[in-house]
Amino acid sequence: MQHFKFDVLVVGAGGAGLRSALQLSDAGLNVAVLSKVFPTRSHTVAAQGGVAAALGNVTEDKWIWHMYDTIKGSDYLGDQDAIEYMCKSAADAIYELEHYGMPFDRNSDGKIYQRPFGGMTKNFGESAMSRTCAVADRTGHAMLHTLYQRNVKNNTQFFIEWSTLDLIKTKDDEVLGVIAYEMATGQLAIFQAKKTIFATGGAGRIFEASTNAYINTGDGLGMAARANIPLEDMEFWQFHPTGIAGAGVLVTEGCRGEGGYLENSDGERFMERYAPNAKDLASRDVVSRAIATEIKNGKGVGKNKNAVYLQLAHLGEDKINEKLPGIREIAIKFANADPIKDPIPVVPTVHYMMGGIPTNLHGQVRKNDSGDRVENFYAVGECACVSVHGANRLGSNSLLDLIVFGRAAGLHVIDSIDQKAKYPDIPKEAVEFTQQRVASLNTQSKDSENIVQLGNDLRSTMQQHCGVFRFPELLKEGVKKIHDIAERSERLQISDTSNVFNTARIDALELKNLIEVAKATIESAHAREESRGAHCRSDFEDRNDEQWLKHTLYYSQTNTIGYRPVNLKPLTVETFPLKKRVY
Ligand SMILES: Cc1cc2nc3c(=O)[nH]c(=O)nc-3n(C[C@H](O)[C@H](O)[C@H](O)COP(=O)(O)OP(=O)(O)OC[C@H]3O[C@@H](n4cnc5c(N)ncnc54)[C@H](O)[C@@H]3O)c2cc1C
Repeated sequence: MQHFKFDVLVVGAGGAGLRSALQLSDAGLNVAVLSKVFPTRSHTVAAQGGVAAALGNVTEDKWIWHMYDTIKGSDYLGDQDAIEYMCKSAADAIYELEHYGMPFDRNSDGKIYQRPFGGMTKNFGESAMSRTCAVADRTGHAMLHTLYQRNVKNNTQFFIEWSTLDLIKTKDDEVLGVIAYEMATGQLAIFQAKKTIFATGGAGRIFEASTNAYINTGDGLGMAARANIPLEDMEFWQFHPTGIAGAGVLVTEGCRGEGGYLENSDGERFMERYAPNAKDLASRDVVSRAIATEIKNGKGVGKNKNAVYLQLAHLGEDKINEKLPGIREIAIKFANADPIKDPIPVVPTVHYMMGGIPTNLHGQVRKNDSGDRVENFYAVGECACVSVHGANRLGSNSLLDLIVFGRAAGLHVIDSIDQKAKYPDIPKEAVEFTQQRVASLNTQSKDSENIVQLGNDLRSTMQQHCGVFRFPELLKEGVKKIHDIAERSERLQISDTSNVFNTARIDALELKNLIEVAKATIESAHAREESRGAHCRSDFEDRNDEQWLKHTLYYSQTNTIGYRPVNLKPLTVETFPLKKRVY
């Protein structure tokens, strides 16, 4: 078996992974980045609307206002130390990208353009304002290419179309690297490093209707779960209010930021009833529930009355072409609607995973309820739960999370790495464990399970049992069904056992990760008996701070749940006290 050695290994070449790698290669470390796809095809490339920072280029702004909005948006589940760190670092992080060459839109005075986004307000909730920096409706594309090019300049080493299968972790909870699979050849290899950073992105493919790329299969979370590392706050999934009905493709919140609004079958701007102040720019969980309620009450549009309309026509052709050109293209292609004259039919569609691998604000992974750390292991970006998004993420805070915590993890690695230390021996069992997992897929048996069938069962179960609204009976049944699917996945089998670009094998290994994510999600959702942020239960309608102001930690190996207190203490400012969350 090939055995590579590096100072640092970064798994994932999206915004978070590339930002970390850049910090490390700038410092002269020997860093390798592994990615399932060509780096610029990572899901970050699909981010449309923008990245938040209190620059104050369009309306007056302060980082502390951004901090307040983020805490409120998180429904008070976000850790206030991490949120302060992110909001305070935001402006510098944006200027850094600007200096790297990211082609931001500009105001007439030459400063970076900013647009309004949901939940982003002036003066602690007083009124909507403009905080989201954008490159038209292709912000992620611009960010990812900028970061990739800087890494190429630094000679960061890329291993492209290598799928990482498992962590190598010792009995003393030290991570020594990973075992990865080369798609072109079907060979396994050991990648050993003094520090390993996971930046493997989201897992929105556990649901049927998703804005996420097909590669968003939660591999990092699956690997962590198999290595007995808990997953945090997995009950919190964001449904984006405006996915194109039927297709799932995202229509950015930037549309509403630019002045678009939602309408029901009566032509009513119904958000005025649900969120009298923020209206269409209330936070995403609020808008998604409003749409689902309108549809439930028979006010949906379209043949099956299962969508609502997003109106943009009043913005005019020039503004749509300048600020939302990609959206026009998507709407014409996927909804057969040209927003210059037609409304776009939209529905809430799963979009973002608030939970993930538990970390502190340096990206160091936590292994238990007390917050003890796994040695030499970091996670950043959507696969991590820092937690800055808590129970609900504000739009444009994820791209910010990537660059702020990608950098933070890089800095911590640089400070703590001992380049001269010897590489320890790799435990034989770790290698055998992965070899066995791969080989078992080739073993035919009478009761073998098929990838497509099992994947469909997983996605439809999650969609029906763990959606925008959550009902106790459905959750209970869902838990049973998902464990049943997990049990069936032990007999997953592929009929093509060849080695060259065997995509069936990759699909099967990814499905196992999706199942880990689904298990953590539904178990955590079933356990949390309150409604908070994106987790909305019909039997416990209110937030319950007395019992539930705490982070969930799900341990797959023992199928148990633990909890960790929310950190209400910021780094330098006063605590933002708990309040009822209204928009
Ligand atoms: C359609 C869409 C639009 C969005 N728009 C916005 C927006 O406007 N603003 C905002 O703030 N947020 C937005 N988001 C959210 C945000 O884009 C994502 O949360 C973020 O880009 C995730 O970045 P990441 O670096 O964590 O992961 P990703 O960009 O998803 O990258 C993951 C990387 O990990 C690699 N990888 C995964 N598994 C393995 C494995 N097993 N082995 C090797 N490599 C692996 C992949 O190849 C990839 O390189 C949007 C999301 C979507 C889906």
